[in-house]
Amino acid sequence: MNTFLSSSQEALKEQYEKYAAEEIQPAAKDLDSGKASLKEFLQKLGQTGFLGLTIAKEYGGASGSFLEQSLFVEAACEYEAGLGLAISAHVQVVELLKRYGDDRQKSRYLPLLARGEAIGAFCLNEENAGSDYSLIESVATTKQESPKLNGKKIWVVNGEIASLLVVAAKDEETGKLSLWLVDAGDSKSAKVSSGPKKLGLRSASADEIVFTEAPLAEGSRLEGDAIEQIEFALDTAKTILAMASIGMTNAAMKLAVEHARTRQQFGKNIGAFQGVQWKLADMSTDLAAARMLALRAAWAFNESPEEFRKCAAMAKLLSSKTARFQTGEAIQVMGATGIVEGSPAERFYRDAKMMEICQGTSELQKVIIADELKV
Ligand SMILES: Cc1cc2nc3c(=O)[nH]c(=O)nc-3n(C[C@H](O)[C@H](O)[C@H](O)COP(=O)(O)OP(=O)(O)OC[C@H]3O[C@@H](n4cnc5c(N)ncnc54)[C@H](O)[C@@H]3O)c2cc1C
Repeated sequence: MNTFLSSSQEALKEQYEKYAAEEIQPAAKDLDSGKASLKEFLQKLGQTGFLGLTIAKEYGGASGSFLEQSLFVEAACEYEAGLGLAISAHVQVVELLKRYGDDRQKSRYLPLLARGEAIGAFCLNEENAGSDYSLIESVATTKQESPKLNGKKIWVVNGEIASLLVVAAKDEETGKLSLWLVDAGDSKSAKVSSGPKKLGLRSASADEIVFTEAPLAEGSRLEGDAIEQIEFALDTAKTILAMASIGMTNAAMKLAVEHARTRQQFGKNIGAFQGVQWKLADMSTDLAAARMLALRAAWAFNESPEEFRKCAAMAKLLSSKTARFQTGEAIQVMGATGIVEGSPAERFYRDAKMMEICQGTSELQKVIIADELKV
C-alpha cells in the first residue's frame, strides 16, 4: 500500500529492503546487546550512502527526498529499531544544517555527515527541561571575546559517538535560546557519560553531556529563530521514528502470521481459530492506517511543508500507539515463543514502548495537534 511512492521510490524501497535483509538482519541481535559497535555500523551505513540520502550531491549526498530517507529507516527497523533512533538524531542535525546553516557551515559538515565520518547528535533535554524546553538552563556567554557554553544535557542520542553536536542554550545576556554547532572532539570542555540502560532501543545510546566553559567557535550559531529550529528538528525526528515504528510493527506482524500458519494446537493451525485471525486482521488494518499517515508526514516534508508539523505529530502519535499495542498482540499470538529474551518479537515489544516517549511524548503530540486545530 504505497500511496505516496513513485515508481523510482518503489525501486529504492526494494533496494533498501534487500540491503536491510542482507546487512542489518545478521547484526541486529548483537547491536541490541551491545556486542556490535553502533558507531562502526553507522559508519558503514554512511559509506554506503544511507545517512546522506537527502543531502545535495554537491556535498556528497544523494539529493533524495525526506520520504526516501524515511523509507530506508522503515526497512532498517524491520530488523533493528535502535538504528531508527540513532538515525533520527543524525537526520535532525542534517536537516537543521540544510535549512538553517550558512554556506560555510554546510560545506564544513554536510560532506562528513553524508559519509558517516561525522555522526550528529541533538542536545535539547535537561534535568529540569523535558517536554518544556523553555526551561533550558544551559547558557552561552557571548559578550566576551571568545564565547563559551556551560550546562548539562541528558538523553542525548548518539552522545558518545557523535562528532557534531547541535546544542540549545540560552544567551546569558538576553535569555534568548539559540542552537550552536559544537565539535565534540574537545573532551575537557564536553564531558560525555553513558546514559542509563534503557527498556528498549538499546543499540542507540542516550547519554549525558556536561559542557564546562566549552568554546563556541566563531560562526557556530545557527542563525534564525531557535524555537522554529527546535520544532523543525523535533518534527523531522518524529517522522523518522514514525517510520521506525511501522518497520518494527510490520516485522512483528510477519512473525505472528508465520507462527499462526505453523503452530498446531487442538488439531489445527492456530491461525484457523477466529480469535487469532481477528487479532491479525486488526493488526494489519491498524498498521496500514498508521503507515499511510507516516508516509504522508514524510511526503509532506518536501511536498506540502505547511502541513508537515501536524502530520508529523499525528504520525508519531498513531504509529507509536500502534507499535506499542500491536507488538504486544504479536507476542500474544506467538505465546511463549514470543517472550524469549533477545528474540525479535521480544525486542520489538521493548522497543515499541520507547517510541511513545522519545522526541516528544504522545501527550505533547496531542497538544501540537490541538494547537494546529486552533481550538
Ligand atoms: C530513548 C530516548 C531518546 C531521547 N533522545 C533525545 C535526544 O537525542 N536529545 C534530547 O535533547 N532529548 C532526547 N530525549 C528526551 C525526550 O525528548 C524527553 O524524554 C521527552 O521530551 C519527555 O521529557 P521528560 O522525559 O522529561 O518527561 P516530562 O516532560 O517530565 O513529562 C512527564 C509526563 O508528563 C506529561 N506531560 C508533560 N507536559 C504535558 C502537557 N503539557 N500536557 C500533557 N501531558 C504533559 C508527558 O507527556 C509525560 O507523560 C530522549 C528520550 C528518550 C527516552
